[in-house]
Amino acid sequence: MPALIVGNWKMNGLGEAVAEIAEMAGSGASSRRVGLWIAPPFTLIDRAVIVSAGSVKIGGQDCHHKDSGAHTGCVSAPMLADLGAGFVIVGHSERRRDNGERDADVRAKAMAGKAAGLEVILCIGETRDERDAGETNAVLSAQLAGSLPDDAEALIIAYEPVWAIGTGLVPTLDDVAAAHAHIRSQLVARYGAAGHGVRILYGGSVTPANAADLLRVADVGGVLVGGASLTAASLLAIASAA
Ligand code: PGA
Repeated sequence: MPALIVGNWKMNGLGEAVAEIAEMAGSGASSRRVGLWIAPPFTLIDRAVIVSAGSVKIGGQDCHHKDSGAHTGCVSAPMLADLGAGFVIVGHSERRRDNGERDADVRAKAMAGKAAGLEVILCIGETRDERDAGETNAVLSAQLAGSLPDDAEALIIAYEPVWAIGTGLVPTLDDVAAAHAHIRSQLVARYGAAGHGVRILYGGSVTPANAADLLRVADVGGVLVGGASLTAASLLAIASAA
């Protein structure tokens, strides 16, 4: 399975930023060895799809769980698909923190994304306090139990320790391996053999300097990158580490 490098631009990027995506697409980095995906803000998705020329997959950072209706300011999964998006991130810890999203909301969004034909990157991860209390596996199990969609098709899990996001802190490689192994066991318990086919990404302070080590950890199928995904130079350096 080629490594997947996913950039989450969060609330960053005006129109000129699509030049970075054009550069990523033109680099030829997206290949049989590595997949490059970018989730720009909603406002850039249509332009990003055009400049990505099919070689960088473009996605949304969130979607509403309903297809349409009276939900001011929200964007649905069919709207993303209509723009040419190929995936959607759900359950990011910043959505859980800023918008009060719970596991049941995340599950509904994941189901909506799949129904719209999108691949779904479902984010889970423990806080620092939970890790220090030895609760990491229990937290991951509970998040998965509450948020996994009905089947494993088009599903990707992103393990993102909350305390590692945007902090420059990264778990030890052994801790990453242990968390991914635990997530895998939960996926197999839930989906049977299909659970083996679900890709698991690591996210949280991934940089060109640490990407090679992280991508070599057992069952790390790629990385979800925030800050270091904003420029083509930085994201391509991560891709070349794969
Ligand atoms: P970061 O963000 O790489 O800036 O830590 C990762 C994420 O939130 O997906």
